Parts: sequence; structure tokens; C-alpha cells
Amino acid sequence: MSATKPMKPVTFEAGARAVEEAMRGKGVEGYYADAADPLHAAFPAKARIHSGPDGMPLMGESACEALERLADRPRSGKTLAYLHIPFCETRCLYCMFYQNPFDEDRSKVFTDALIRELELWSDRDAQRVGPVHAVYLGGGTPTALSARDLRRVLDTVQRTLPLANDCEITIEGRINNFDDEKIEAALAGGANRFSLGVQTFNTQVRRSMMRIDDGERCLRRLEALMSYDQAAVVMDLIYGFPGQSMDVWEEDLRIASSLPLDGIDCYQLNVFEKSPLARRVESGKLPPAADTPMKADMFARSVEFLTNANWRRLSNNHWGQGTRERNVYNQLGKGACDCLAFGSGAGGRLFGHSFMLERKLDDYIRAVNDGVKPTSFLMAPGPHWALLRTISSAMESGAINLAAIGRSAGLDLEGMAKPVLDQWAEAGLLRRRGEWLHQTVAGQFWHVTLAQLLIDFLKTQLVAPNAPNAKDAQDGMNAMALRKLDMGAPQMVAAAAGGARAPRAPHPHHG
Ligand code: SF4
Repeated sequence: MSATKPMKPVTFEAGARAVEEAMRGKGVEGYYADAADPLHAAFPAKARIHSGPDGMPLMGESACEALERLADRPRSGKTLAYLHIPFCETRCLYCMFYQNPFDEDRSKVFTDALIRELELWSDRDAQRVGPVHAVYLGGGTPTALSARDLRRVLDTVQRTLPLANDCEITIEGRINNFDDEKIEAALAGGANRFSLGVQTFNTQVRRSMMRIDDGERCLRRLEALMSYDQAAVVMDLIYGFPGQSMDVWEEDLRIASSLPLDGIDCYQLNVFEKSPLARRVESGKLPPAADTPMKADMFARSVEFLTNANWRRLSNNHWGQGTRERNVYNQLGKGACDCLAFGSGAGGRLFGHSFMLERKLDDYIRAVNDGVKPTSFLMAPGPHWALLRTISSAMESGAINLAAIGRSAGLDLEGMAKPVLDQWAEAGLLRRRGEWLHQTVAGQFWHVTLAQLLIDFLKTQLVAPNAPNAKDAQDGMNAMALRKLDMGAPQMVAAAAGGARAPRAPHPHHG
């Protein structure tokens, strides 16, 4: 890829600051969309990756004690489990989730600790009581583990978690080093879904992002995995990489949609200030990534392409075909359900409390070996957290019946949000069908921003509808989210990007 004139990259953080600036001191107008060009410029930027309610943060020992107090409460309702494998063979340029270089000996010691952690609370009610409906091994790179360690982890999952008979068990990973022995170990251990980050089949773009394998090898390994015909195979694509023109993106969509995959996820690239990618663009070693209008066009193209190819829409970014892909973890994770979490850097949620486990590998291993669940951060739920998460989840699906959600909570949510919803409909982001509000393609592109603005607006109404300082309180919350971003700690980035979203989302990053 040819070098270009050095320039300041358009980063996610710069966008978040622009959104905060645009809202500062404004009343309801601060939530309005620009109607002139809703697809490309409804808002100054996308300020969130995931939407969700905020809460009260606790760190270190207080977080540990708070989670410990929840361990003997029996769960009810849908439950997920997330296992975090904190190793990668190489660091992809755009990634903010990289933790540790893969090392065979360390990964074995970590696997021992992870198994110990799964056993730690296996007789406590929060883990023991009530079925677990989806398990997700994410990272990092779960497929970096040896075949033997993958199998050891999966066998322990079967032994220590009360899995539902139809439990979805996903292994997230990358093509590189995911050989037949590992695939067979994962299948023998009960995995029934693989989510692989290919991101793009274009070898030049892949190499510029420090991806190891070329496009051709990605295709061959996907074919090998699908040939087992024993589990759903889902693939992530990313749009907006430097050098990824619309032609390259269309070719990615064409190749992916022509494969007998069970699912395709299309995500947009975010360039974070502290990522190696931002530095390369700034120094002129790489051309800039796509700007928001270009990404909007790429998103719209993916919707048109996959709809025409008769793929089934599972959510705004997820598509399926055939009968295997159920998307259980992704779908439930957006809502208010519990998520047990294990592994260094894992994020979970129990009874509304979002938490994250120790990211420093040695500290994690030491704590687990001492018999302690190593919680480093916990966010106690704020008021209306379950309601607000339900709204966030509905917005992710592309349509919301706010009136019905409000009725079930005994609140006139539709009436509270009317000025904002009406303006968004006028601006071409939403379309009314009876009680339902469906997102247009422009609304789908901006859906996380819409969800977060809707939640923030409702919070000002729910907490103190007539308080003169309700907007001040909201400005304060936005400023707090930005300060968290500035701190740069990955869990803080995740918190600010997603309102302490947990369970930790499967993220579109492997390749
Ligand atoms: S994108 Fe995935 S594989 Fe690449 S560095 Fe990040 S966590 Fe590791």
C-alpha cells in the first residue's frame, strides 16, 4: 500500500468529543438529527460502539467484594457465559483488545487457572442454579490455544456450568493456526458454532493491517471448517479499512455471500487514538481509513447486496442463511440477561451489575490460585437499568415498540420521547408502522447513536422529568464517559464506548 501525506486520522475519540460539543448546553434540540443528509451526516459522528445504561463504578477490592456478595443469589431467566482467552499471535493494527503475545507455556498456565476459576464458584447459586443458554469463548484468540487446552476448557465448561440442552457454544477465532486438530478438539468438546474474523479477503488490505494469511488461504480454511458440517460457521467482515475501496468491499461481500456459510456479520472499522493504526495513518505510512459518509455508503451497500442475495436479516449487522445460525449469544447479550464471566479480561453481568475480571495475566493467575474471583471493576446498576437495556437491545434489532415496552413498565415512554422520535422520523431515520418504529437504512447505520441518545433522553425524563438541572446532569454523564475514554484503559474504553456494556461483546477483530 503506497504511503501518503501525513495527516491527522479521524479517530473515534475525536468523534465522541464532536458529539459532546454539539450537544453542550442544548435542550431537546441537542438530540435532533440533521435532516439534510440523514445517511451520511445525521449526527457529527458516531459516539458509541454499543449503547447501554451507565451505573456506579467500583474498582479493585470493592469490586471483588461486591461480586462476592452476589455469588449466592440464584439466577433466573436467560443466562450467558463468556470465557476470555487473552492471547494473540500478532497484534492487528486497529485492535484495542490485544492483551498478551501468545506463548505456549503461559497459555497452559492460564488454561489451568481458567479451569480453576470455572470450578471456583461451581457450587455457588449464581453459577449453579438455572440453565446457561449460550457460552462464548472470545478474546484475544481462543483458537490460539493448543487442541489439548481447548478440549480441557470445553470439558470443564460442560462439567461446571448447567448448560441448557440447546446451549449455543461458540468459539471465536482467527483463521491463522486454526488447524484440523483444533477444529476436531473443539467439536469433540461440544462447540456448535464458530465465529471467525476474516474482515476482508483482499490480501493487500489484510497485510497492511498485519493480518498473517492471504485471502486465498482464508477461503481454503473456511471451506475446511464448513466441510465438517457439524456446527454453524459465521464470518465477520469489516468495512472502512485504509485502501478498502467500494470495489474491494463489494468483492468481499460477493465472496462471503457465495460461500455456504451460516452467518455473516458486517462491522465498521473504528480508529482509536491509541491504536497502532492511528499512528501509521498520522505518520503517512498508510492512507486514511474511510470517513463516516464513506462508511455509511459501505453499510448501505452491504444491506442492498445481502438483501438481494436473499440472506436473512438477524439484526442490523448480522445476516444468516439456512437453519443453523441462531445468534443466541449476540442477541441475548444486548438485553438485560445475566452473563457469567471467566478468564483474564472477561466482562460479565450479574443481577444488573456489570463487571470485568483482572486484565493483568500474572495478577489474574495469582488471585485464582489463591481461590479469589479476580474482579477489577464493577458497575452497580443505575435506576431503570433493565428497562434501558431492553430499549438498547430493541434498537439493535432494527425496530422498537416503545409504547409496548413502556406499558409493561407502567410508563408512557412513547410520550416522554415523542419530540425526539418525531424529529428522527421527519429526518428520515425512522418510519412508523402502527406502534412500531422501524429504522430506515440511514437509521440502521446510526442505530447505536439513536439508541444511546434515546436512552440518555429518557434518563433525563425518568430521573427528574421537571428538574431544571436534568440537562446539566446529562452533560455531566457525557463528560464522565469522555474522561473514561481519555484514561485509555481498555476496560474504560469499553465502559465509555458502551456504558460499561457487559457481557463483553464479541468484537469484530480477528483475522
Ligand atoms: S483483532 Fe483479535 S486477533 Fe487481532 S490483536 Fe485484536 S484480539 Fe488479537
